[in-house]
Amino acid sequence: MQRRHLLAASSAALALPGYSLDFAAPNPPAAMRASVDRIVDIAVGIRPFRAQGPRIEAEKRFGKTVVHHYGHGGSGWSLSWGSAQRALALIQSRGVRPGERIAVIGCGAIGLTTARTAQQAGYKVRLYAKDRPPRVHSSAATGLWTPDSRIITSENASEAWTTDWEAMARASFKVHQSYLGLPSGPVEWHDGYVVADEDFDQALPGHIGEPDYPELSSRIADLRPQGKALSAAEHPFRKPHARRFTQLIFNIPAYQRLLLDDFARDGGELVQREFRQPRDFARLPERVVVNCTGDGARKLLGDTSMTPVRGQTARLIPQPEVDYALIYRGQNLVVLPRRDGLLVAAMGEHDFGNDDLRPDRAQSEAAVQRLAGLF
Ligand SMILES: Cc1cc2nc3c(=O)[nH]c(=O)nc-3n(C[C@H](O)[C@H](O)[C@H](O)COP(=O)(O)OP(=O)(O)OC[C@H]3O[C@@H](n4cnc5c(N)ncnc54)[C@H](O)[C@@H]3O)c2cc1C
Repeated sequence: MQRRHLLAASSAALALPGYSLDFAAPNPPAAMRASVDRIVDIAVGIRPFRAQGPRIEAEKRFGKTVVHHYGHGGSGWSLSWGSAQRALALIQSRGVRPGERIAVIGCGAIGLTTARTAQQAGYKVRLYAKDRPPRVHSSAATGLWTPDSRIITSENASEAWTTDWEAMARASFKVHQSYLGLPSGPVEWHDGYVVADEDFDQALPGHIGEPDYPELSSRIADLRPQGKALSAAEHPFRKPHARRFTQLIFNIPAYQRLLLDDFARDGGELVQREFRQPRDFARLPERVVVNCTGDGARKLLGDTSMTPVRGQTARLIPQPEVDYALIYRGQNLVVLPRRDGLLVAAMGEHDFGNDDLRPDRAQSEAAVQRLAGLF
């Protein structure tokens, strides 16, 4: 009670417009300090998008079992564990016995979770990767539970595919919950606010130049609490419309580090190596190779079904007192209260089909300025 009173008083001292002392949210929100001189880092990454959905299939090549496991679009962190269970099932269905050492290529979200899943099933694992965190695309991710983000196009999302996706999403969700409550906070639940200029009933246009994506979230709506519309007195933001939601958030650096530590603790080996062509798999001593190269598969396999989708995130100096996410609906702005900083994500105008890794500071500064306008 005392803490709640203190927080309310300090927010009032900040003179948040529209803020009311009888504010009904469980945690009255502290103001985000949104100014461009607080940007400490800008990261650019590529979402490995595949119109048909992720490729999870096995083939016999060079006398080896090669399990392809890539193409998770904007959902790789969210879907990772469920997807890894699919890849593991393919290994097991080939009669590969626990105790045997397998090779996993790639040290992003998919490679790391695949390696851990295989270890937990009793396999020895050697990870091969050109780069490791934080120099992988997965390190640039926002960190929201979004298993439905750029994961397939509407025209490819058959009922069978959608049922399988739902099972993967649910399996993944369950494993993410086992990472709650740890000191480094790899996975946390946070409240958040969606604010808007227009009524929430108004449909939003899709991203320019992108295909239609299916509406999948209703299939797993039971996995998080229902949102709630807020009156002007119930939120401090300078916008007429707001909703509160509760969402699962990944503190990406802590999550990656924990996965790497757990991998090593269970006897995993990590080898730095670049594969220039599939024939390079033939030189590996392991009989089973799991190809988790993400966007790298485009070049390595010449896979034209892959489309790179550029993404950029900026971090503002951490504000531990800010414990809520903020989305400015229709205005290209998502902010997460990550432990390594306030994470500000915004799309660029030409990100679809774009693999340009050069940071665009003006894009992140504009996003931070949009954020400042909300307080
Ligand atoms: C800006 C942005 C925001 C995102 N936000 C979210 C989010 O909020 N939630 C969510 O769930 N997902 C999000 N995603 C998507 C998610 O990050 C991706 O789906 C995920 O990173 C894919 O992981 P990966 O392991 O397949 O690929 P990567 O992280 O790219 O890892 C690939 C690995 O393979 C290695 N490799 C590649 N080619 C070769 C080669 N030839 N030889 C040897 N090694 C090779 C690389 O070095 C690396 O280790 C976001 C992505 C971006 C870019």
